[in-house]
Amino acid sequence: MDNYPPSVNELVETYSNSGIPRPLLVEEVRRAIDEGIWESLDERVETLRKLALQEVLNATGVLLHTNLGRASWPTTFSGNPVNLELDLNSGSRGSRQGYLGRLFANLCETEAAMVVNNCSSAVLLILSALAHEKGVAISRGEMVEIGGGFRVPDVLELSGAYLVEVGTTNKTRREDYERSINAHRDVSMIMKIHQSNYKIVGFTESAEIRELAELGVPLVADIGSGLLDENCFWLESGPPNWLIGEPGARQTLAQGADIVTFSSDKLLGGPQAGIIAGKADLIEKCLDHPFARAVRPGSLVISSLQELCHKYLNRNWTDIPFWKMALTTKDELQRRAEQLKIGIPVPLNSVPGGGTLPSVEIPSFGIQIDHDISKELRDGTANNLPIIARVEDGKTLLDLRTIHPSLDDQVKSSLKQII
Ligand SMILES: *Cc1c(COP(=O)(O)O)cnc(C)c1O
Repeated sequence: MDNYPPSVNELVETYSNSGIPRPLLVEEVRRAIDEGIWESLDERVETLRKLALQEVLNATGVLLHTNLGRASWPTTFSGNPVNLELDLNSGSRGSRQGYLGRLFANLCETEAAMVVNNCSSAVLLILSALAHEKGVAISRGEMVEIGGGFRVPDVLELSGAYLVEVGTTNKTRREDYERSINAHRDVSMIMKIHQSNYKIVGFTESAEIRELAELGVPLVADIGSGLLDENCFWLESGPPNWLIGEPGARQTLAQGADIVTFSSDKLLGGPQAGIIAGKADLIEKCLDHPFARAVRPGSLVISSLQELCHKYLNRNWTDIPFWKMALTTKDELQRRAEQLKIGIPVPLNSVPGGGTLPSVEIPSFGIQIDHDISKELRDGTANNLPIIARVEDGKTLLDLRTIHPSLDDQVKSSLKQII
């Protein structure tokens, strides 16, 4: 090969089947030539192709995998217009929050609800709308980073509210809140933040929602994980035992919280969004705040959430992928693992993930391959989706709990091609 690169056009043509639009390919080829490393173009185009959003198989056994978008929910949209803000009764302007708000209020057995982009926006909106330039009492044990730089004290500052620290890291009692409220005359809210992704163990104590509801200021509970009901009313069999201790929206509100906030892509099992549910006058203030527009979801999310709420209310839990995965029996998974007839069927432990239920494990079953083929699986094979697997002690583990049974054939075909 001589030292002159082939023409840009010629190189770009080589990758016309890559799925990357031509202008982006041209840009990548030019960059490679500028950097004098155009011989490694295959690799660069492949790297670029893998950056694109695409479907994958989750064989990690982490039900709500943060890097795989937590809960997965099918998109069903034909592309026709929708009555997002048109009231079909009157023909005049309606609210995108109206019907969905009723659905979530009903699901949470409370007065009102609204939906925003995620739970972080829910917390930001509430603090901005209900506590601007006022104090918010929060336990020192809950002054946490919830994920990826979302730190409670920072969000508070951003909202214009100020922090009134209560109690100590390991112990905060009702009297501590009372004392803080009395000492700072303009405490306008108590905020309780659920310890979703960590545990404080040992010599600990925290105040109950019930006790804090009596203190005369609005009580907001960020439960985060999105469990609607501790009794799982949508499941005939009641709640699985690994859910024990996780606060439900219904129970938290019934115990006296004025508002609860939670994510819709954790234990709720839906697309990314945040739910605010509770007292109608407080929700009204949130809806009226200018931030509400900045954090409102679009029709794709609203239509998905509406469908999800209908499934809960109709108790069609088998149509909610998260619950279907979570409740598949170990025996059923073992049967599937043995049917694959490739690799070694092994018992495994799945985890809920998504920053929920730390240290909970759900007995599962899957396939073990005796060496590390995680890269090959991630590369994907002909006609099959990339597979994201776990590697432990140099062995590749594929947990079948997080894979839809209809995709077992793809797993088998990929494994056959790789090993
Ligand atoms: C996950 C979580 C959040 C953040 O929710 P996002 O929807 O990711 O913005 C906030 N609070 C609690 C308690 C959480 O568990």
